[in-house]
Amino acid sequence: MTIRDRYNEVLEKIEEAKIKAGRKDEVKLIAVTKTVSNEAVEEVINAGAVAIGENRPQELVKRMSEFGSAVEYHMIGRLQTNKVRHIIKDVELVHSLDRMSLAKEIEARAKAIDKVQPCLLQVNISGEETKTGFSLEEVLFFVEDIAEMPYIIIKGLMTMAPFSGNEKEIRSIFEKLYKLKRHLEEKHYTHIDMKYLSMGMSQDYEYAILEGANMVRIGSNIFGKRE
Ligand SMILES: *Cc1c(COP(=O)(O)O)cnc(C)c1O
Repeated sequence: MTIRDRYNEVLEKIEEAKIKAGRKDEVKLIAVTKTVSNEAVEEVINAGAVAIGENRPQELVKRMSEFGSAVEYHMIGRLQTNKVRHIIKDVELVHSLDRMSLAKEIEARAKAIDKVQPCLLQVNISGEETKTGFSLEEVLFFVEDIAEMPYIIIKGLMTMAPFSGNEKEIRSIFEKLYKLKRHLEEKHYTHIDMKYLSMGMSQDYEYAILEGANMVRIGSNIFGKRE
């Protein structure tokens, strides 16, 4: 199968999951291009991809210089503060805002170029130590603090489920993020627009859609297994 075939297959599965969930709203697919060649990225853009994601800022910068305005750029992995200035101009959405020091740096760099930077708050629901992100409780405090940062707009939440393969466990984590999103929506903060729920990767995006994800981040199901 070509990248185009696999990309289309993922789109079909997204539609099937939406039907199963009784949903008619849009689910946005982010093609995660980490470790793949520029040729493969070009193929996925030609197949219709409008957004690509990288988990390392250095790699995102390389894609930006290669593909310019052909596609949107999503930062989905841990972002070191000293890398923010390299991506700030062209990054569409930072999915991985996970600490105050990073928020401060994004605020300063965005202000310097007069851009309001859309970000998602990364939440570590499972409490796994290997995963970064705010705890459910920390998010509630952080949204209050970030009100003082006019160059950041929170556009939603992101999480990663454990790689357990256990449907019940994975879905309960996605459900908790969905409930947190609803809870924050009901507070009607002006600096927050709870539009996106970024959850679901190759092995669990169907579960994520059943639990309300409207942004899924898919790599290996499109490009094949990484080394
Ligand atoms: C790699 C990665 C993905 C995509 O993973 P696949 O299993 O290849 O679909 C999604 N989100 C993040 C944060 C990643 O690092």
